[in-house]
Amino acid sequence: MRIPNLFIVRPVALDGAFVDLWVVELSRSHRRSLLGRDDAAIIGGMSERTLAIIKPDAVERRLAGPIIHRIESSGFQIRAMRKVRLTKREAEGFYAVHRERPFFGSLTDFMSSGPAILLVLEAPGAIKKWRSLMGATDPAKAEAGTLRKEFAESIERNATHGSDAPETAAYEIGYFFAGIELV
Ligand code: GDP
Repeated sequence: MRIPNLFIVRPVALDGAFVDLWVVELSRSHRRSLLGRDDAAIIGGMSERTLAIIKPDAVERRLAGPIIHRIESSGFQIRAMRKVRLTKREAEGFYAVHRERPFFGSLTDFMSSGPAILLVLEAPGAIKKWRSLMGATDPAKAEAGTLRKEFAESIERNATHGSDAPETAAYEIGYFFAGIELV
């Protein structure tokens, strides 16, 4: 029986993060000649999502516009965006992995001190790509041209947040957004 060629673009869960996969299903004979087996699909063009936050220090200094401009001009798709003022408890939940760090109280005070902007960004390699655009945590160590070099006030008031791994991205996106809000 001949299986027709089929090109499908669909969102799937991969390592806990939702990504768009281009799944190309080939005829059985093509699969056998290209991949050496019948049951394989070729997966390519993978996109990834990450959670970004424009932190209260940057929102207060009216830097949201320039930062969003950099996000868009760097090739990210903005899948969701919301302005919120986190409660202390919400900030503590978000940064729970840092609970034992000496700056936890100060960090969560800062993150709940004023409005922040939450974004879900999508691009191939979005997690690394957004962290490169942000620069090092400490602006004194951040490279020229990065957002933190340009906009951060200090190691704590450092303008932006970005997920650091696929599992964290999935957790952080889910912490703030329902799947139906990602467009
Ligand atoms: P990130 O992934 O670059 O955001 O850095 P981390 O996950 O290590 O830290 C989370 C956040 O905690 C940082 O973005 C800063 O806002 C804050 N932070 C990190 N290190 C320090 C520190 O040494 N002192 C203070 N006061 N805040 C820090």
